[in-house]
Amino acid sequence: MRVYMDNAATTRVTEPVLEAMQPYFCEIYGNPSSLHSFGREAHKALDHARQQVADAIGANPNEIYFTGCGTESDNWALRGAAYARQGKGRHIITTQIEHHAILHTCEQLEKEGFEVTYLPVDEYGFVRPESLQAALRPDTTIVSIMAANNEIGTVEPIAELCKIAKDAGALFHTDAVQAVGAIPIDVKAWNVDMLSMSGHKLHAPKGVGALYIRSGVRIDRLIRGGAQERNQRAGTENLASIVGLGQAIELACRTLPERAARISALRDHMIGRILAEIPYTRLNGHPEKRLPGNANVSIRFIEGEALLLRLDMAGIAASTGSACASGSLDPSHVLLAIGLPHEIAHGSLRLSLSEENTLEEADYAVDQLKEIVRFLRNMSPLYNEFLKDQEA
Ligand SMILES: *Cc1c(COP(=O)(O)O)cnc(C)c1O
Repeated sequence: MRVYMDNAATTRVTEPVLEAMQPYFCEIYGNPSSLHSFGREAHKALDHARQQVADAIGANPNEIYFTGCGTESDNWALRGAAYARQGKGRHIITTQIEHHAILHTCEQLEKEGFEVTYLPVDEYGFVRPESLQAALRPDTTIVSIMAANNEIGTVEPIAELCKIAKDAGALFHTDAVQAVGAIPIDVKAWNVDMLSMSGHKLHAPKGVGALYIRSGVRIDRLIRGGAQERNQRAGTENLASIVGLGQAIELACRTLPERAARISALRDHMIGRILAEIPYTRLNGHPEKRLPGNANVSIRFIEGEALLLRLDMAGIAASTGSACASGSLDPSHVLLAIGLPHEIAHGSLRLSLSEENTLEEADYAVDQLKEIVRFLRNMSPLYNEFLKDQEA
């Protein structure tokens, strides 16, 4: 059996999305900026996709800008706002649990003379409103807090945090790459100024993203060249992928309540079985206020990498709590931020589901996990010592 449970890393392009994209390679291939009929046809598709994205998050189409990926949206929002508002101040607030697209951008801004406050989170990964309140200063220009965490799935109280930031005169950006299509989003209800999205986390292709910028908010451009995206983001539009993003986001939002209910039931089934059937495990993140598809557990006396390797041999694609993708074995900054000690953070596993996962797959994954954990623990001197201590 081959089971894909790494949907927080990327998702499959689904057939309706691919179908919607298909004409935009060989048939409708004009440049949307061209004035002839080929260009006009392409432009129409661009407008339609922009409307779909806007509708999905409660925005106006003229507030949606297509980008090359979620990472670009994050870079643009932060740097664009930081540069545009330097006259007011050079202080930025974000959190310790952001995606590297935010964290590394902040580190670069620090090198350029900006000051960044990285807010801590509580044991569940929540940003405490009072800690944001305390960090705000007259020279704070932008606050960036993710809508939902990609590792532990925690869904942040964005409306409340946004209000605090804006009452203090700061702009508010949220990285909603994991949240869009997974939880209901209404930019007007949240009152955010900017919101990042990415195609490949919701069954559209890789290499396309979008940034919502509230009408009236001015930020600097990052990519210069032609007049695309109303002169704010240059570069000939990746039309087929943009069409895919529009289609995927519309589908995701239209089916959201049923899908979210089904996926979270599957998630809870897996979490319940893991915690009940594998001793010395704990759930990371909040039991309820988490993304429907996210299960993140720490398994004591286990190394995440060894676990992943064996799961992979059993056909199961998952991910660990360490940043092994980047070649480092450091435990995840998110798990450390919620207070896990190094050795426990190291033995963490993220299973991220989509609507395509079945109960049969979920049970297979847990059965395999049980076997593998038993096997690895039997070989672990640490575990055997621990058992001896327990007996003594
Ligand atoms: C995946 C992800 C990104 C980056 O998006 P890309 O399109 O892969 O560049 C940013 N933030 C979060 C929370 C993510 O999960």
